[in-house]
Amino acid sequence: MQCNEEVLREMELWPVWKRRTAAGAEIFSQPQAANEVMLPAQRREVQKPNAGLGGADWQVLKERVAKCAACGLCKQRKQAVFGVGNESAPWLFIGEGPGADEDAQGEPFVGQAGKLLDSMLAAIRLQRGREVYITNVVKCRPPGNRVPTAEEAAACAPYLDRQIDLISPRLIVALGKTAATRLLGVDASLASLRGKLHRYRGFPVIITYHPAYLLRNLQDKAKAWEDLVFARQTMGSLLQKT
Ligand code: URA
Ligand code: SF4
Repeated sequence: MQCNEEVLREMELWPVWKRRTAAGAEIFSQPQAANEVMLPAQRREVQKPNAGLGGADWQVLKERVAKCAACGLCKQRKQAVFGVGNESAPWLFIGEGPGADEDAQGEPFVGQAGKLLDSMLAAIRLQRGREVYITNVVKCRPPGNRVPTAEEAAACAPYLDRQIDLISPRLIVALGKTAATRLLGVDASLASLRGKLHRYRGFPVIITYHPAYLLRNLQDKAKAWEDLVFARQTMGSLLQKT
């Protein structure tokens, strides 16, 4: 306890509950900025079948996602990719969206990036399906693996939010910029967001690089390792607090 607390104090991250709240976390439910006004054609695609998820249990949520047509990503998916792991996991890892392998297999992070994610988990003694839950900002594959739009992330947000509520994780690790932007509501560089403890709707959040990015930028692997050590230490402190 002492040790972890000292590290956090030194980094001005303790006590965690005094850190910034999730500024702008509700950004996706706010009216759009003037320069982001949707064209009528786009507006038609973002319907609102996601209302009323507040009380949904896992089964209802999975059924809703499987049938969802709330954004255009439903058109080209083979299947929606809901999430995988322990449904009361202390750790929640959030990626961007399914790729081709995930779309085919129905499980997040099963391709090349997934292999690296499994190694990253193993590095801090975690394992898929054990104390970890893994999901994505959008549940359906963006064509050509493009970055999901803000509208697509917003359409899918109620599902992720309900997953977060049901899991009630001790710590969320956002993998890459899409997940960071979705949770923190800021469009800042990953470099400026990592190494800090953020919050999303009260849940502690740590930001690190996306494994697909790390596959292309090997030089940043050391920083990702630092982030994972920081996450592990933070989890230790959070668990001792209660
Ligand atoms: N990249 C992601 O963001 N999520 C996956 O599930 C696979 C690759
Ligand atoms: Fe629905 Fe999300 Fe798939 Fe869009 S990405 S169709 S909101 S499940």
